[in-house]
Amino acid sequence: MSRPPNFLFIMSDDHAAHAMSCYGSRINRTPQLDRIADGGMRFDNCFCTNSICTPSRAAILTGTWNHVNGVTTLATHMDNRLPTFVKTLQAAGWQTGIFGKWHLGTGPAHCPAGFDDWAVLPGQGIYHNPTFIFKGPEGGQRRVVEGYTTDIITDMCLDWLDGRDRERPFMLMCHHKAPHRPWVTDDAHASMFLNEDVPEPDTLQDDYSERAAAAAAAHMRVGVHMNDTDIKAEMPRDMPEAELRSWAYQRYIKDYLRVVASIDDNVGRLLDWLDEQGLAEDTVVVYTSDQGFFLGDHGWYDKRFMYEESLRMPLVMRYPRRIEAGSVSADMVLNVDFAPTFLELAGLEPDEGIQGRSFAAILEGDTPPDWRQSFYYRYWMHRSHHNVFAHYGVRTHRHKLIYYYADGLGHSGSVGERHEPEWELFDLQGDPAELHNIVDRPDMADTVATLKDELHRLQAEVGDQRYQLDVD
Ligand code: CA
Repeated sequence: MSRPPNFLFIMSDDHAAHAMSCYGSRINRTPQLDRIADGGMRFDNCFCTNSICTPSRAAILTGTWNHVNGVTTLATHMDNRLPTFVKTLQAAGWQTGIFGKWHLGTGPAHCPAGFDDWAVLPGQGIYHNPTFIFKGPEGGQRRVVEGYTTDIITDMCLDWLDGRDRERPFMLMCHHKAPHRPWVTDDAHASMFLNEDVPEPDTLQDDYSERAAAAAAAHMRVGVHMNDTDIKAEMPRDMPEAELRSWAYQRYIKDYLRVVASIDDNVGRLLDWLDEQGLAEDTVVVYTSDQGFFLGDHGWYDKRFMYEESLRMPLVMRYPRRIEAGSVSADMVLNVDFAPTFLELAGLEPDEGIQGRSFAAILEGDTPPDWRQSFYYRYWMHRSHHNVFAHYGVRTHRHKLIYYYADGLGHSGSVGERHEPEWELFDLQGDPAELHNIVDRPDMADTVATLKDELHRLQAEVGDQRYQLDVD
């Protein structure tokens, strides 16, 4: 007779799947994260519906696309009266807690709701000696906590677990600030990679030809679009751009991987605690990140684009009672699917209005015959300092069609030129790096028409509206 599961939901910020060894990373090892994959299921096609921090977090909690939950951009905060899977679990008797990054707003209207206890970083938070907001009246009280943020968040989680009511199941969200920019390491990992070069991605020197104008216009190039804080050195601005990109890549990626190594160690502490307490069998352990990230791919850092490295979320889940150890799924699952999945695993009905679909059957190796073969994505921001054009699109297992409907004209109008809307089509089988936009190739006309139909069908299905110039 199985008991109601506990949930240990660990989410980092901007951790790309290709910096986890269980996903075949060429640049680092993550033995503790691999423990989750080895003991459970690795999802090779988990995607976000909007590759940016705040919106993805809202999608995870509510199970809805961002035009529905209202959190379309970094500037929009979540109304904490919205239904979330955490509130449903709490109402059904689960103990609930969240420690770490929240990033859905502060104050009484936006602070965490549905949690018995919480302590969260204001906004992005910082890496060393961070201020936390602790649960309390009027949106909570602020206090500085000494130490390294990834360690502190784990300490808070372990303290909460130790103090819990052992008679009731728990849902604990451990939300790391790491490895978000500016990638500040702790002392324990500062000397990793000191005397070695990290391999460069194949597309580090991408020149953005054969793409829509958006790629070349984006201000997220390693080196030229970084500052001294990013690379912890004075940027050698007189270096030729390609050389600077390689040089800055080493500075950037080493810090990123050092920060990831600290997450890995701290995940190990939580997994060890579950083993010591005899709770591993009864606990659903999840490791994911709010979106992917460019690790020098296409010459970039950051995310936002519907390109693979940024679109893909790492997702590994362990629950020995229902998931076979070492299993792998290629089914398309989305951040909006998390909420209904957790509720089904808890034996509860999905909240009214949830748009995602439970993948609990997939966890047991039983993909429903009508499981999705495509999904809808939308990045709404078009005036951020990274100058990424707003876009929406559809991805199938074989193709990706993207429509850039609004150009950059970044903040203060200081960057970006006026551009007409543009389409991009990639063949993910023949061109997995997405270097060749083939939307205008005559032999692709039927494929483009089919994908446009599918895009507009999905857009209508989730209740979003197409851009005025996107006409048949
Ligand atoms: Ca993020």
